[in-house]
Amino acid sequence: MKLDGEHLDAKSWLVAAGRPSEPGDPLNTPLVPASNFLLGDLRGYARDNGTPTWEALEALVGGLEGGRSVAFSSGMAAVAALFQLVPAGATIAMPQDCYQGVLGLAADGAERGLWDVIHLEVDDTAAWIDAAGRADLIWLESPSNPMLTVADLEAICAAPRKPGSILGVDNTFATPLNQQPLELGADVSMQSATKFIGGHSDLLTGVVTTRNEELLGRLQKTRMLAGATPGALETYLALRGARTMALRLAQAQATAAILAQRLEEHGGVDLVRYPGLPSHPTHEIAAAQLGGYGTIISFDVAGGADAADGVCQTTRLIRHATSLGAVDSTMERRAANPGQEHVPESMLRLSVGIEAAEDLWRDLDRALNTPDRG
Ligand SMILES: *Cc1c(COP(=O)(O)O)cnc(C)c1O
Repeated sequence: MKLDGEHLDAKSWLVAAGRPSEPGDPLNTPLVPASNFLLGDLRGYARDNGTPTWEALEALVGGLEGGRSVAFSSGMAAVAALFQLVPAGATIAMPQDCYQGVLGLAADGAERGLWDVIHLEVDDTAAWIDAAGRADLIWLESPSNPMLTVADLEAICAAPRKPGSILGVDNTFATPLNQQPLELGADVSMQSATKFIGGHSDLLTGVVTTRNEELLGRLQKTRMLAGATPGALETYLALRGARTMALRLAQAQATAAILAQRLEEHGGVDLVRYPGLPSHPTHEIAAAQLGGYGTIISFDVAGGADAADGVCQTTRLIRHATSLGAVDSTMERRAANPGQEHVPESMLRLSVGIEAAEDLWRDLDRALNTPDRG
């Protein structure tokens, strides 16, 4: 990340990147609600050539991920654009434990005969290395959703690959502050900017980043042809959110570590999955690969699905809602959603926000101790 030739830490980059720099310019990147521009050399129509607000967000995320970025209308639009690049009859290797929308996208294409899908266990490195030799798209998610299993990205990225294949990583849970997939050898890193970059549960945007110029051009072309363009307000808000992302992540992550440890010791909890806990099956690789263990904790409530639902209904500060990566803590029972058959019935996924750790703990502890919950 370089600004005016000077190397910056990611924290400074998040604050300083993508801002106007001419005398008389506003300090903040303006919200530009435009479909078309006066014709000249630079741009004519927003869907073809972008807008200054999207470009500022792309510059910011590109610097963070270490490549060049294309912003889309949502994380799913970004993933769909990438999946659209595979040749007819392609083989796609992807995790069994994976974001529900991406599982749905892969299944829909498979049903329509567009591609074959191989589902792999996130931590079965040998299976990924084997699949890399024959798959056209290797799609990884690490840590995975919602089981928080960490893949050995470096080993998988180093595996011999089918020529012309693409290796992409969903970097949403880790964020580019904790994990650098392109540095580890991935072709593409994807962020749902809806989550940590936006950080306030008030927008949908997705960003794909690559160092491969040809792939960048194909992704831009796909966005243009599919019309999967980001919104003006959304990219403005995502930029605004990004300014505080390092602080938000640091605070929420520190709290998550405290809550994960206390949950592990709580009699109302059967099992805690958090990559930072020594008991986590992929803790070692997480420690080696990640700059931080993230803000998501998955834990099994003693007493089954009803008891888990009761906990969600009893917490007050922790809101009963889906999604993650925002200032507010949210929690839900993932197995209540379709396509989550591999997820334990009593498992709650908690996204830790930036509230005080002790307030969150009191809220959780009270809900876990409420005898007639559910
Ligand atoms: C939310 C999410 C997506 C999809 O992003 P949207 O912005 O909701 O379309 C993809 N992957 C992961 C891991 C996510 O959490």
